[in-house]
Amino acid sequence: MNKQNPVAQHCMVCGESLAYHESAVEASCHYCAQPGQALILCPQGHFVCDHCHGAGSLELLPRLAERVKSEAAEEILEELLQLPELPMHGPEHHAMAALALLLAASKQGAVLPENFVAEAIRRAMQVPGGFCGYAGACGAGISLGIAVSLLAGATPLKGAERGLANRASALGLTCAGDGEARCCRRALRKVVREGRAFLAVQLGIELPALATETRCREMARNRECPGKSCPFF
Ligand SMILES: [Zn+2]
Ligand SMILES: [Zn+2]
Repeated sequence: MNKQNPVAQHCMVCGESLAYHESAVEASCHYCAQPGQALILCPQGHFVCDHCHGAGSLELLPRLAERVKSEAAEEILEELLQLPELPMHGPEHHAMAALALLLAASKQGAVLPENFVAEAIRRAMQVPGGFCGYAGACGAGISLGIAVSLLAGATPLKGAERGLANRASALGLTCAGDGEARCCRRALRKVVREGRAFLAVQLGIELPALATETRCREMARNRECPGKSCPFF
């Protein structure tokens, strides 16, 4: 596997800017040859499936999650965003809002399944890349539903818990529905900020507040950065 440009938002194979299509085309993954339908494709025909897209960074995410030092969910998120080989955008971001909130809650003594890190990543990776635009359901937004589902022990059969998890996703998706081109990091930061208040009100889990506002340092890497319209600019 020769990923020339793993940190840019461009094609991982050749570095060209990716094209976002309105309808899917047949393609097979450049790295694993898995055939699929692709909406996001390199003009040279390269397609990288979500699994291979996150192969380098997702392997390291659980280990990084074990070692986070911060107490505030917002600061834990910034630690997770330091993940080596993390591309500017992509589905490997989807678990991070859930992880930031769950790790912060766990440090405050919240009861969680032993494997909550792996389970949050497994659930979040079921949301494909580009789902924000293609299904109106941003992975970072749904990440809040995943966090609340794990904290509340929701299943499809538990009415109150399932309802709460769905309302959490709805709040997360409202955060993501801001009228700008997608930015995984902006969405995650908004979702974690709103998620902290949701956990306090709905679950009685008080997480430490952030002392200083988060400021983004990746503007130059994000071709679609909305600049001053972003609350983290
Ligand atoms: Zn390419
Ligand atoms: Zn693949």
